[in-house]
Amino acid sequence: MIILRGTIRAISPLHIGTVGTGNYHPTLPYIPARTIRGMLGNYLFNEKKNLFEKLRIDDDRSPSIHFKPALPEGSVASPLILRWCKRCGKLIEELDKDCPECLQEGKKRGGLMLEESLSSKKFRSPEIRSSIDTKCPITRKGHTSPGERYSLSPYNIGALLPGSEFDLRCVLPGEYVDDLKDAFREAGIFYGIGGFRSKGYGMVEFDFTGEEGIDGYIERRSSEFDGSSLLMVLNAPAIFEEGKKHVIGFREKLLESYLGGHRIRRQVFSEDRARGWEIKGGYRLGKIIPATGMGSSALIEVDPVRAARAEVYGIGSMRHIYGDVYFRRWDYGAI
Ligand SMILES: [Zn+2]
Repeated sequence: MIILRGTIRAISPLHIGTVGTGNYHPTLPYIPARTIRGMLGNYLFNEKKNLFEKLRIDDDRSPSIHFKPALPEGSVASPLILRWCKRCGKLIEELDKDCPECLQEGKKRGGLMLEESLSSKKFRSPEIRSSIDTKCPITRKGHTSPGERYSLSPYNIGALLPGSEFDLRCVLPGEYVDDLKDAFREAGIFYGIGGFRSKGYGMVEFDFTGEEGIDGYIERRSSEFDGSSLLMVLNAPAIFEEGKKHVIGFREKLLESYLGGHRIRRQVFSEDRARGWEIKGGYRLGKIIPATGMGSSALIEVDPVRAARAEVYGIGSMRHIYGDVYFRRWDYGAI
């Protein structure tokens, strides 16, 4: 198995659907893993059935390919367990109450941040360039037009601007990597990603920057983690199941199969919804599943090899599209 890395660059506006109100359709600032799977799966199902079958891309139990969320270049989910100074954005250390420089209290920050915020201990947001496009439906005489009683009003579409770049990662058997690259390139141009594609949204191009064997990755990361408690952060919603119930937040008993024996010292989590997506049978929207939200985070004592392995394969159910997680050393409140 290898980790393929690259960049997804928007060459038209992108609209990644999320919950909005009324006639405004906001966009997410990133591309969820399931959306990337949707684009690629749609393309392979119609154009390259052979590779579709080999990657088992629609198999939620034992797929051969794991997709990760494509976040804006250089960014990660902001850990909800951390507090940052309200004024200067400095990280408030575990034992401090206020910012030692401005004596302001800290606050939690959700959403995305530049990864370097962790090493520089200063919060920085990624640059997200977006716009709102207003569309007016057109009425025409003729039998293909909406009827007179059909109410038409302008609607607004949130869009990420062309030129926006996102970090791509996926995990797959090395033997398929060249075919996969070709498929991504063609799918990004001819099928596109996200919503409103028939209105000219969603065209993307791919640049591939590297491939790394997972054994080498796990060895490298686990040596970085060795001898420290770790900060664990969800980079995507995660699905935890206990019997037939869905559980929100981290529980040692439910994480054991992914992390081995470990101890959770402290955690802060949020609640979200994960959505399934079925490629077979006409691209139906699957069921909506309660999930632990992006940015949910914990201080944890865990075997460094199991942590590194979880960075590759994720945690929870449906790890091929959910449960992406990252770890950092946590020494006396420092990162
Ligand atoms: Zn400050």
